[in-house]
Amino acid sequence: MRYSKSLIPTLKENPAEAEVVSHRLLLRGGYIRKLTAGIYTYLPLGLAAIRKVEQIVREEMNRAGAQELLMPMVQPADLWHETGRYEKYGPELLRFVDRHDRESCLGPTHEEVITDLARREIRSYRDLPINLYQIQTKFRDEIRPRFGLMRGREFIMKDAYSFDVDDTASGESYQRMYDAYKRIFTRCGLDFRPVEADSGTIGGSFSHEFMVLADTGEDTLVICSACDYAANSEKAAVIAPAADESPMLELEKVETPGKRKVPVVCEFMNIESHELVKTMVYKAGEEVVAVLVRGDREVQEVKLKNLLGAVDVEMLDDKGVFDATGVPTGYLGPVGIKVKLVVDAEVAAMRNFVTGANEKNFHFRNVNMGRDFEPFAVADLRQITDTDPCPVCGAALGMKEGIEVGHVFKLGTGYSAAMNAVYQDSNGQDRPMVMGCYGIGVSRIVAAAIEQNHDENGMIFPMPLAPVQVILLNLGLKDEQITKTAESLYLELQEKGVEVLFDDRDERPGSKFKDADLLGIPLRVTVGKRLTKDGVVELRKRKDGATEELEPESVVARIVALIDEAMKG
Ligand code: ATP
Ligand code: MG
Repeated sequence: MRYSKSLIPTLKENPAEAEVVSHRLLLRGGYIRKLTAGIYTYLPLGLAAIRKVEQIVREEMNRAGAQELLMPMVQPADLWHETGRYEKYGPELLRFVDRHDRESCLGPTHEEVITDLARREIRSYRDLPINLYQIQTKFRDEIRPRFGLMRGREFIMKDAYSFDVDDTASGESYQRMYDAYKRIFTRCGLDFRPVEADSGTIGGSFSHEFMVLADTGEDTLVICSACDYAANSEKAAVIAPAADESPMLELEKVETPGKRKVPVVCEFMNIESHELVKTMVYKAGEEVVAVLVRGDREVQEVKLKNLLGAVDVEMLDDKGVFDATGVPTGYLGPVGIKVKLVVDAEVAAMRNFVTGANEKNFHFRNVNMGRDFEPFAVADLRQITDTDPCPVCGAALGMKEGIEVGHVFKLGTGYSAAMNAVYQDSNGQDRPMVMGCYGIGVSRIVAAAIEQNHDENGMIFPMPLAPVQVILLNLGLKDEQITKTAESLYLELQEKGVEVLFDDRDERPGSKFKDADLLGIPLRVTVGKRLTKDGVVELRKRKDGATEELEPESVVARIVALIDEAMKG
């Protein structure tokens, strides 16, 4: 690939709209361009990096016994009605009607389509197990598309679906995918971690996410310092303390004029924030629900959503709270509250705590559950912290940020039962197929790799994901010897199967070096004045800046050896 003939529109300035480094660098390096919110064109280098991910994914999926197919992106609403997800999926599902007034949607995921295929084509236990996958553009009308390829509305996903005769066999399929995912992310050169995860709108009983560790990750992971436990904090179970058995004191109403915020109330009442209980009000579907958590804790919204079986939960603003409860925020409490009340397990174990009195400018002291109010439910509803113990072994937990690049789910028979996807067992009896589904964010991986590998000068691609392996600079376009050597190295590298971007542009050396760094190509070969002076070319590794000077005759063999080494990991 000749740079002079390629579309690599690099930018000198940081684009203002880009908040994270991968977004910034993908734009600056001319890898992607935005069409509209969350929708990008993959320019040649961007596409080349995506193809690298796809190839690794494809090889490992095939190796694990899965078969590739390609399903339609447009899906009939009827199928989604069968599973009830047409309503349940919420506004991320882009719905539309065609010219014949048929309702359709753009595929955010393909459980319905694949289950429809399976019920038509798979008849007998002899046809199972089977695992089918595709690599395809997905559409999700994300509420906040952002961070470039990290959270697009249109993005490339690998999705696989397994069908088995029973839970045991399905568990084996799940494990095969789990192992394949570990190989995939290792081969991509990523620092990652599998964690226990929430199952979300896909449903199902059991799942793991594969997280690339990076400070800009949108997910928080808890990782045990002693045992194997690692989980998304959305899922991580908080161990509730033993119930406080101290005697209940008399409920006391206290005037707290203008004291609304936790620290202000605590100071005024001379208590610590863990002696106060906050009342947080959410909209969950059509319902309004109040949640009690300790004053120094946060509600974990995914746990709340799961408890309520809601598609989504959203905290109400001051006006919403007042409309629903008749009480201004800051003075809410469980005693006599007018909306459904759920209580975090930690609060349920407390005695004699402080809450709002459901009256402006008043709080209660010595509130007690059971005596002063009865909740609809008690559950683990708070965000875990790094001072909580590991829920498995009790040791200390650490917390890290991560980017979800893959997700494996055990689905059980939810979809097959709803859609009547059955097979005949060896006794001729119809049984629902037991399913699993397995996603990888192909385009997101490119962004995640950059989040993990960059410096102030640009991207640093791990060799397996680099759009090309080598950038070759001709720094003497007007010098016959330099140009001849550079041109012949270009040919020789291609003959050896090395992917090379040949910078043959009429540009100053400084800007060629800058672009080479920005693009993040793992190896750089410079043919310049050192050739005419000393008969050498320079080979430099992007990652650590290590340089070697080599005779032109030996540089290709050295490059091939370095690539082989890097691809082995
Ligand atoms: P998230 O929690 O980040 O929204 P998800 O749980 O909705 O992800 P899945 O439905 O499991 O994601 O999709 C499989 C994979 O597709 C994810 O692991 C992620 O890598 C990728 N992915 C999901 N949503 C997006 C998006 N909006 N842009 C890019 N990649 C995405
Ligand atoms: Mg999502």
